[in-house]
Amino acid sequence: MNPEHFEAPFITEEMQSISVVCTECGSHSKPDFWTKHNDPFERIASTHPNGGFWRQVGVGVRCSCGATNHVPVKAIDLQHPLYMFGDEAFRGDEGSRHFVGVYSLLGATSGPIKEIEDDLLTLKSEVLSDRDPRSWSIHATKMASGQQRLKHRAYRNLRREDVDLLFSRCAELISQLGEWGWNRCIMTVYQIGNHPKKERSAVRRSLNRGLYLGLIGDAIYRATAQRLHPLFTFDAQSPSAPATGSEGWADAAYFGSRHYLGHLFITHGNDVRPPRFVAPASEPLLELADVHAFHAARSIWQRAQGITPERGLQQFGSFSYINYRADRVLTQVGSDIPDSFIF
Ligand SMILES: [Zn+2]
Repeated sequence: MNPEHFEAPFITEEMQSISVVCTECGSHSKPDFWTKHNDPFERIASTHPNGGFWRQVGVGVRCSCGATNHVPVKAIDLQHPLYMFGDEAFRGDEGSRHFVGVYSLLGATSGPIKEIEDDLLTLKSEVLSDRDPRSWSIHATKMASGQQRLKHRAYRNLRREDVDLLFSRCAELISQLGEWGWNRCIMTVYQIGNHPKKERSAVRRSLNRGLYLGLIGDAIYRATAQRLHPLFTFDAQSPSAPATGSEGWADAAYFGSRHYLGHLFITHGNDVRPPRFVAPASEPLLELADVHAFHAARSIWQRAQGITPERGLQQFGSFSYINYRADRVLTQVGSDIPDSFIF
């Protein structure tokens, strides 16, 4: 893990393969995605009376012979919003040998999102018929724990079987949404036990940031390639975040990443709005993202210890599973996390 790369955006394989042949000497070189620039790469409002924006359509790449060669940036105009909802789950405390980190991101355009939201409200009304479904929210960790369930004002009368059924029905909804192809989940299994105890919280923060940037970078790249403007909503991690709509570390990472050339390529030359952080489970899709993230982290944790997970991720349908390891990411589309991501 290189601390210098804390804010550098995630670079797709496709971007890494960009190579420019020098018009002067014929040798190959690559754009430098990793150097921080003073000014962010973003569109600049035109001073022309008709308005409009300037945007960068290419960059100069300097060759070792001294010549500067032009590399075009594929600029794509965005047409529709793509709503994406993310939540995280972590496993492994300060004393653990392994740290497991997961972010699940559920997404679609407005039509399918609305349908799933309505279906979730109906499902919640069935589970707790005496309560307004908007008055309580699903928190998988609290629901799965018998002790925490008993203490909770809304869940206390739920039996283990009720919770299992609720999770299965949530998995069905997530699977339906997944047919639109935007459900993704980034994960890492990291041997945190190799670090001295006093360094571990800093390592965890750095992994958290890497997972977050890897996830949104991948989503921004794929969405903008398809003319979609990704609008992210995340579950807040710190208690103060919902009031401002932002998380300090996440904003720093996001705005920092705009100072790298990679950002221009990832966004296909667009300004993408920074993710919004809201109160946990305050929106229906965040409740579902929580259910997936909880099960993904639990599944990885159990599989790493040779235990068969009681709920297989197959129930959640197709996901792009992304492995974040040593500042690189590898994506595989499927109905479960491949063994190679865990072991
Ligand atoms: Zn040259």
